[in-house]
Amino acid sequence: MKIETITICGGGNAAHAMIPITRNHFSGKLNIFLPYGNESTHFQKLIDEKRFLTATIRDKKIYGRPDRVSKFAKDACKEADLILMPLPAFAHEPTLLQIAPFLKEEAIIGAIPARSGFEYAALKILKDNKKEKVKIFGMQTLPWACRIKEYASKVDILGKKRSVGMAAFPHKITSELAPFLSRILDLKIEPLPNMLTLTLANVGQIIHPGIMYGLFKGKEGLKYRKEKIPLFYQGVTKEISETLRMMSDEILVLTKEIKNIDKSVNLNHVLGLKDWLIYSYKESIADKSTLQNCFVTNSAYKGLCAPMKKVNDDYFLPDFQARYLTEDVPYGLIVTKAIAQLAKVDMPVIDEVILTISQWIGKEYIRGGYLEGKDIKDTRIPQNYGINNLEEIIVY
Ligand code: NAD
Repeated sequence: MKIETITICGGGNAAHAMIPITRNHFSGKLNIFLPYGNESTHFQKLIDEKRFLTATIRDKKIYGRPDRVSKFAKDACKEADLILMPLPAFAHEPTLLQIAPFLKEEAIIGAIPARSGFEYAALKILKDNKKEKVKIFGMQTLPWACRIKEYASKVDILGKKRSVGMAAFPHKITSELAPFLSRILDLKIEPLPNMLTLTLANVGQIIHPGIMYGLFKGKEGLKYRKEKIPLFYQGVTKEISETLRMMSDEILVLTKEIKNIDKSVNLNHVLGLKDWLIYSYKESIADKSTLQNCFVTNSAYKGLCAPMKKVNDDYFLPDFQARYLTEDVPYGLIVTKAIAQLAKVDMPVIDEVILTISQWIGKEYIRGGYLEGKDIKDTRIPQNYGINNLEEIIVY
């Protein structure tokens, strides 16, 4: 695997963290592709003024700058051997559509995090552009919790995952790609057997919509004073943890059914939610006895509040346009539900969560119990890419 040029797409929090980290562990050429709005001009001007981007991780500082910044896919991507997309899931397709015509035949392109169904969209766009040799990968989560402090200048890395799962297609590149990504992202990477694992083991699809549902169902119009805004993860009650457990169990039933249909498919990395929390946050959970306690006593979640929007100086309402809903439902739960539909597995609790959240975000995904609502075209279900059977899903 010869990687001499890397292109990072986007200029959000994750890209800001990735630029200095990659720069410090990769000596080749580093490009940034910024097609969105006037980000490219803005970024170029500021990075020229500040000279480099500084990432702060605890008391350590890491510095770096890209070699090239461009608004144009051709300039940013035509030489790239590896393209990293640390982007919100709704930006994957617009980005892929722009860069696909200019990709090198042997390029590798990956989404960090992949969320669900990344492979269906990516492979369709690559095929439409006659770039079938381009390889893809996805990572299970973003490795860092990070926030831009000053655009093109300072980013805070607030936390780093112990290890992050990565799956690639074709699978055979995983063994070479995992150590390379591990080195440039300075991170332990766990190779996963297939891309379906990324979809089913996307725990954000359970945690974010599930907690929002539990906190705000029936209280949609309730206004909160600033000091009364509920904690998000540490605000999980026994009842909310029960909803989360049932959602997780429904995904495990689907996983089992897929394994029954094809005994050769390896879905061993799709864990129940409690097992995943204990695996991922081993050191930060004080009491691992129940699912609720895994949230409430997890110091990594300390102080994180539910997403709210300000109504006036005194009051806040739940923010139903937050990523926890607008990303984790159409690029998460809905994709899993679509696979369940193909496997003929019922998901009553997940259906109820989707139906409630669809109303909150003003979308219609389910109609008459099926994924036939008017907004289903804007999701990443396999059926939208002409995939209508489980066999094809399992191949990836
Ligand atoms: P962000 O909101 O900071 O990203 C915004 C950037 O995405 C924009 O600056 C732009 O460059 C790009 N973008 C947005 N819309 C676009 C479009 N239509 N076309 C092309 N580019 C577009 O997001 P982030 O915080 O960097 O998060 C990236 C991903 O990581 C998301 O999936 C998020 O849920 C996930 N994540 C983030 C964190 C975190 O701490 N930031 C933690 C866990 C997971």
